[in-house]
Amino acid sequence: MFLGHYALGLAAKRASPGLSLGVLFLATQLADILWPFLLALGLEQVRIDPGNTAFTPLDFVSYPYSHSLLLLAVWGLAAGWLLARSNGRAIAVVTALVVSHWVLDAVTHRPDMPLYPGGPKVGLGLWNLVAATVAIELAMYAAGVWLYLRATRARDKRGRWGFTLLISVLLAIYIGDALSSAAPPSVGALTVVAALGGVLFPAWSWWADRHRAPVVGR
Ligand SMILES: [Zn+2]
Repeated sequence: MFLGHYALGLAAKRASPGLSLGVLFLATQLADILWPFLLALGLEQVRIDPGNTAFTPLDFVSYPYSHSLLLLAVWGLAAGWLLARSNGRAIAVVTALVVSHWVLDAVTHRPDMPLYPGGPKVGLGLWNLVAATVAIELAMYAAGVWLYLRATRARDKRGRWGFTLLISVLLAIYIGDALSSAAPPSVGALTVVAALGGVLFPAWSWWADRHRAPVVGR
């Protein structure tokens, strides 16, 4: 899942207006942010395998550290403590977002999502149904954007257009991915693109969010 993760980050702004959207995106995408670095270190493995499911050409051979339920709970608590240590509610929001990545991936992936390193793997395989995957993710994303727009207002043009562009770029990446059946040229290229995206989108959203103010009582 891609847009669905961002949708939850956007929706969470209302629950914790003091947290930047950058922090919320970092939390919801932490699994995918850690993943390329663990691939580069050789601790996790992926294989390019067109047709693995209808939606993705990737075979997630092993990712116990970035994508097991147990370790995401650990990373979630650690991220909550590091990013929101002064506020119990914010810690809970960050932890829940980090763990939500596992839940959403377990719905979309075939059974490759470990409960704990070396443990049983689960996955409901929504990715076998491309139209359903796209419909569900677009609906989640639209709801997330709407909730974020209700929870904040632009302070200036950067807050309005920086956010609009961010949301549009994420949408365009997703649509491009859904329409094309092209596989990445190599695991190395995939790793680099994943690492760049993991830095770019939290940083961009942190910047855009600084130019928006929380709206209370709506
Ligand atoms: Zn993931």
